[in-house]
Amino acid sequence: MEIKLENISKEYKNVKALDNINLAINSPAMIGFVGPNGAGKSTLMKMLVGQLLPTSGNIIVDGVLLNKNEKHLKERLGYLPQDFGLYEELTVEEFLDYMACLKGINRSKRKSIDRAISLTSLEEKRKFKIKTLSGGQKQRIGIAQAILNNPELLIVDEPTVGLDPEERIKFRNLFSEGSKEKIVILSTHIIEDVESICNSIIVLNKGKILFAGEPSELVKGA
Ligand code: ADP
Ligand code: ADP
Repeated sequence: MEIKLENISKEYKNVKALDNINLAINSPAMIGFVGPNGAGKSTLMKMLVGQLLPTSGNIIVDGVLLNKNEKHLKERLGYLPQDFGLYEELTVEEFLDYMACLKGINRSKRKSIDRAISLTSLEEKRKFKIKTLSGGQKQRIGIAQAILNNPELLIVDEPTVGLDPEERIKFRNLFSEGSKEKIVILSTHIIEDVESICNSIIVLNKGKILFAGEPSELVKGA
C-alpha cells in the first residue's frame, strides 16, 4: 500500500488544523505521529480513514484519489479512534462478534475473532464482561476490533491515554511485532510510546510537520 498526502490543509471555521502537509507512506511501515494536543494529529487520522476531507490537497492511495465516495480503503483499514466506546455489559467475545458483524465479516468470522483475541493476548478474558477489565485490557479490545479484518493499514489514535506505566509498556510490546507487511500509524502526545517501536516518527505542531525521520535522528526534548 502506498499513501501520498499532497499539500493537505484543513481549516475548521477559523482554526487551521493542518497546514500544507506533504507525506509519502509505503508499506511496511510503523509510523508514530507525535505532537502536543491541538497539533492536528486527530484531524490527520480522521482524514486518512476517510472521515474528513481536506479543505485543500489530495490523498492518494495506490494511485487512486481518495474522495467522499471511496470505499476501497475501508475494507483495508483498521481504526481505533481516540474516543472509542465499548459495550461494557458484553463479554470480550460478544463485543468482537458484534463488531465483526458491523464490519460485514461473515466468512470465517470465528477465525477472525480468535485471531484478534490471540494477537492482543485476551484469551483468558474472552468470556469476561468488558466492565470487569482494566484500562489496558480495554484498550487491547479496541485494538482487537481494529484488526478483525486483518487490515493493511492500522491507525490507532492516542492508544495509551489513561493507562498506567506498566500497561503502557505492554501496549508498546503489542505493536513491536505484527507490522511486517502493514502500515501501522500510532498517534500520541507521549513520544516514549512510539520512539522505541516506530521506524519513523513525524512530529506535528500547529498543523505543520516539524520533523520526519528515524527516531534516532530526533534529539530528545527538541
Ligand atoms: P463529528 O461528529 O462530525 O466528528 P465532532 O464531535 O468532531 O463532530 O465535533 C462536533 C462539534 O464540536 C464541531 O462542529 C466543532 O465545532 C466542535 N469541536 C469538536 N472538536 C473540537 C475541537 N478539538 N476544538 C474545537 N471545537 C471542536
Ligand atoms: P490533536 O489530535 O493533535 O490534539 P486535533 O486534530 O484534534 O489535534 O486539533 C487540531 C486543531 O483543530 C485544534 O486547534 C482543535 O481545536 C481544532 N479542531 C479539531 N477538530 C475541530 C472541530 N471539529 N471543529 C473545530 N475545531 C476543531
